[in-house]
Amino acid sequence: MHTISIISDVVKANLFQQKNDAAIEHLLSDSRKLLFPASTLFFALDGPRRNGTSFIGELYNKGVKNFVVNESFSVTDATQYSEANFLQVKDVLHALHLLAAFHRSQFDIPVIGITGSNGKTIVKEWLYQLLHEDFTIVRSPKSYNSKIGVPLSVWQINEQHTLGIFEAGISQPDEMQQLQKMIDPTVGIFTNIGQAHNEGFLNIRQKVNEKLKLFVHSELLIYCADNPDVNEAVATFANNVRTDKGLQLFSWSKKSAATLQVTSVEHTEENTTIQANYGSENISCVIPFTDEASIENAITCWCYLLHLQVNNNVIAERMLQLRNVEMRLELKQGINNCSVINDSYSADINSLTIALDFLSQQQQHPTRTLILSDILQSGKNSGELYADVASVLQQKGIGRFIGIGPEISKHATAFKNIPQTVFFSSTNDFKQQFYSLHFFNETILLKGARVFEFEQISHLLEQKVHQTVLEINLNAVTHNLKFYQQQLNPGVKLMAMVKAFSYGSGGFEIANLLQFHKVDYLAVAYTDEGVELRKAGITLPIMVMNAEESTFDVMVQYNLEPELFSFNILNGFKKYLEQNGVSYYPVHIKIDTGMHRLGFEKNEIELLGDQLHQSTTFKVQSVFSHLAASDADVHDGFTKIQAQSFLESCVVLQEKLGYMFIRHIANTSAIHRHKDLQLDMVRLGIGLYGVDNSESVQPNLKNVTTLKTTISQIKKVKAGESVGYSRKGIAAKDSVIATVRIGYADGYPRALSNGGGKMWVNQQLVPVIGNVCMDMTMLDVTGVQVDEGDDVIVFGEVLPVNDLAQWSGTIPYEILTGISQRVKRVYYEE
Ligand SMILES: *Cc1c(COP(=O)(O)O)cnc(C)c1O
Repeated sequence: MHTISIISDVVKANLFQQKNDAAIEHLLSDSRKLLFPASTLFFALDGPRRNGTSFIGELYNKGVKNFVVNESFSVTDATQYSEANFLQVKDVLHALHLLAAFHRSQFDIPVIGITGSNGKTIVKEWLYQLLHEDFTIVRSPKSYNSKIGVPLSVWQINEQHTLGIFEAGISQPDEMQQLQKMIDPTVGIFTNIGQAHNEGFLNIRQKVNEKLKLFVHSELLIYCADNPDVNEAVATFANNVRTDKGLQLFSWSKKSAATLQVTSVEHTEENTTIQANYGSENISCVIPFTDEASIENAITCWCYLLHLQVNNNVIAERMLQLRNVEMRLELKQGINNCSVINDSYSADINSLTIALDFLSQQQQHPTRTLILSDILQSGKNSGELYADVASVLQQKGIGRFIGIGPEISKHATAFKNIPQTVFFSSTNDFKQQFYSLHFFNETILLKGARVFEFEQISHLLEQKVHQTVLEINLNAVTHNLKFYQQQLNPGVKLMAMVKAFSYGSGGFEIANLLQFHKVDYLAVAYTDEGVELRKAGITLPIMVMNAEESTFDVMVQYNLEPELFSFNILNGFKKYLEQNGVSYYPVHIKIDTGMHRLGFEKNEIELLGDQLHQSTTFKVQSVFSHLAASDADVHDGFTKIQAQSFLESCVVLQEKLGYMFIRHIANTSAIHRHKDLQLDMVRLGIGLYGVDNSESVQPNLKNVTTLKTTISQIKKVKAGESVGYSRKGIAAKDSVIATVRIGYADGYPRALSNGGGKMWVNQQLVPVIGNVCMDMTMLDVTGVQVDEGDDVIVFGEVLPVNDLAQWSGTIPYEILTGISQRVKRVYYEE
């Protein structure tokens, strides 16, 4: 906690309009995440589309009274907010960094800084698992490792903590110095180096050197010496840095002499035994993992425990207890029409807040429920802690609260303002009462510290699913949305196309996210789709492109806005509205400029204008047209003609109507290929879902959907034997066949039979053999190491949906929207 006057000095601000010397406990950079207004300091960071200062009014009204602003904000702007303190600085982000660095400098505790391409979060969480009995640990929530995540993480340090563990991630040169000042690690861990985020760097060596800058003041550096780039860079670095105490290097290697020299790695089905030479000792440990990455991460953690001189027996015992780190938040279908978010690998107030944000975005069920265990190691006294938790729960709209554990039960009264509460002293007690708790139609968040074993609860709550699932990465949707937003000219609105279950990616889950990120409009194909969104709590305006006479009543009941594309539909809707005494109902006018699908013809525009002008039944919200070939240069001439004709029609309509409406014609491809056609709004479709026809754009998008299945059986066939229906697949030689749980009824095209399609199994592409069946497909996995039950990727990041589309002679749109509803959708946030 620091006062405004101290903070003002630290960040070198011009403090104006000081009203009081408020004590600041919370830093805020995202206005949607406000929790404790009175003690919050808001950093008005500019985003790609909005000035940070544009959130001040809203936050002020919610009780925030302290703001860091840049010089575009003037003293006169401030007078509207008479109760507020303003700290004016040149660079708001830099101010946040200065403050975090100052806060860090107040604590003289060991701090571990972790960087590297992969494994940062796992190593951090595992060190926590291994050391939480010996230290009171403060650590980055999830993977908060960016230039905004790091300061917010460091700000959590308080007097109770005896060890800090923070991760640092960079994507371009010059970022690490900033992060170094805030984390100022006494101990460095360099996990490894990979190809990720190479764009910002000249080469691997430059990337390694940049990352090493995190350790300029460290006393110890732990790293793996097996990558020559890392090894050489560390040696040079160690020679050049001048820390007071010198930099001690702690290397590990599987290949050569090192501080910890790994001599053997052997695994069974479930465990891996690692043996090593350390000094003159021969030591070993066993971890409950067998994959390469986990082994590396575990060795890295082992090094630090050895450095701390933890007893070898204790190390062995704790290593065997290491548990998976669930890195992402997933929304799963639960029993009795519930949705379940299982985030039960940790329980601390920061990760709780992140999970609650995810929960509060879910509108699909009337009740939001939290099941929470005791929070361990908060560094606060439990009275204050649970009072804070209760206040957060109230703000996040928790309707039902279930507390599990002796501590939280003791503080039951803190939660008296939550509508429904119940407490149990242990997970077992909860399980005994499970059926009497009647979970029905609610979104349930599970958040429990490891010792409470909440996996027992998730087993009870989650529905068992068919093993073919479509995973949807919600962060990727957000990323893609932001990418296209950055392509927009100033002031251009965005309509997101969520027709056909959001191109197969699900309905309300995607719409929810888009609503959260404040797109301007949604569009669906049919009224039913719009009704579903409204029922799930979507309040954004929704355009319905294929309005039918029979659905006019629900259209109006659910406040959906039809596209009027012919006089027939216009007159029908008009009659309906008049009979029901509705006037100025919002509608959208579609003009056909060459697509020849739906829309008024050019020669009908005058008449249309006259009719609309005379009528008080409608309010024209927008006028639009659709481009037939915005993605193809050969048709750019045609696109221009379409646009020209559209704009002429708009002029006519504008004159007749006498008021302005939104004009739009650009779909995904047109957004960047025809910037001048963005007009007042664009309609973003397939790009949102990670696919763009343009080769220059595709690398900027993130993969959204992954279709996964599993192997149900593996069999051997002899050369010449046949596989599947009609004996179409003949084994050319003795072969191994894997049958997977997906067929054309799931949307896997039958055109991919007989080698036409391939799937990704154990890091390799393998061909389909024989005909694709209704519910199953056979793969030729000869020579690939596979087991029954293994995951198989049908498409995803490693196998673009575009490839599948090409193999089956179609377009990605058809593959995505063709995945049947029996394939369960699982949504996650990283
Ligand atoms: C589907 C659709 C879009 C979106 O097209 P994408 O190519 O997916 O961006 C835009 N406008 C209309 C009228 C559509 O039907």
